Amino acid sequence: MPLNQSLKQHTIKNSISIEGIGLHSGKPVTLTLHPAKNNSGIIFRRTDLQPAKELPLSLEKIVETPLCTKLVDDGVTIQTIEHLLSALAGVELDNVFVDINSDELPIMDGSSAPFVFMIEAAGIIEQEAPRKFIKIMKTLRLTEEDKFVELKPYDHFQINLSIDFDHPAIKKTKQSVEFAFSRTAYVNDIARARTFGMADQLEQLHQRGLALGGSLDNAVGLSAEGILNPEGLRLRDEFVKHKLLDVIGDLYTVGALQGCFTGHKPSHALNHRLLETLMQDPEAWALVN
Ligand SMILES: [Zn+2]
Repeated sequence: MPLNQSLKQHTIKNSISIEGIGLHSGKPVTLTLHPAKNNSGIIFRRTDLQPAKELPLSLEKIVETPLCTKLVDDGVTIQTIEHLLSALAGVELDNVFVDINSDELPIMDGSSAPFVFMIEAAGIIEQEAPRKFIKIMKTLRLTEEDKFVELKPYDHFQINLSIDFDHPAIKKTKQSVEFAFSRTAYVNDIARARTFGMADQLEQLHQRGLALGGSLDNAVGLSAEGILNPEGLRLRDEFVKHKLLDVIGDLYTVGALQGCFTGHKPSHALNHRLLETLMQDPEAWALVN
């Protein structure tokens, strides 16, 4: 069994809300989490629609775009779900309603720490039902140019990751990480890592009316020479740790895993294809309690 993961399902004790701005719209949005019963899974709800529309999380409904991960069902969209998914994976929350009064989640500070904080404030409770794990039974690997992602059998949940950015500020940091999953390690060491990007690219997006909420309040902004944020980095290896945060969220679209993920320069899209390849191959995985 995966000794470093919870064996029972969890939900939150109380409902809780936070407000933030949408990365795309730049407008205020309210996110509310509610407890859910055993075996409910993660159910997003657009509460601004009449009637409210439920979008249960599933791999088939996930769409990757260059700017964000979205959930699309019957033409109804919820954008920028990736960092909340990472937080849910990181604190091992199995059953929750995720209500949103807009078509996108708030970006908060560009990390998953505000979501972890709200979940911990709501309280986490153990439920009766055992957790189900997708146990990796066979090695699967996808490559794309100089990138690769791989899942292979392993007793625990482990992620080994490397990036290779040719940027002076990123090259100064460690660009690889080996992470043996545990809830504590996620909360203490991964959740605070912020997303990052080139400031001139953000400027171009703004001119096209995109990523209007994007700023140094919710990303590490890079110029050609260095880091623009006056506060600097939160972690010495914040860049690769954020990529790890993203991978943990991506993998949670199929549920908790027992296996080892290895990736070099992984993207949301490549991770998604790896999971599709996994789910389509009945010999590659087994559902275990
Ligand atoms: Zn991210």
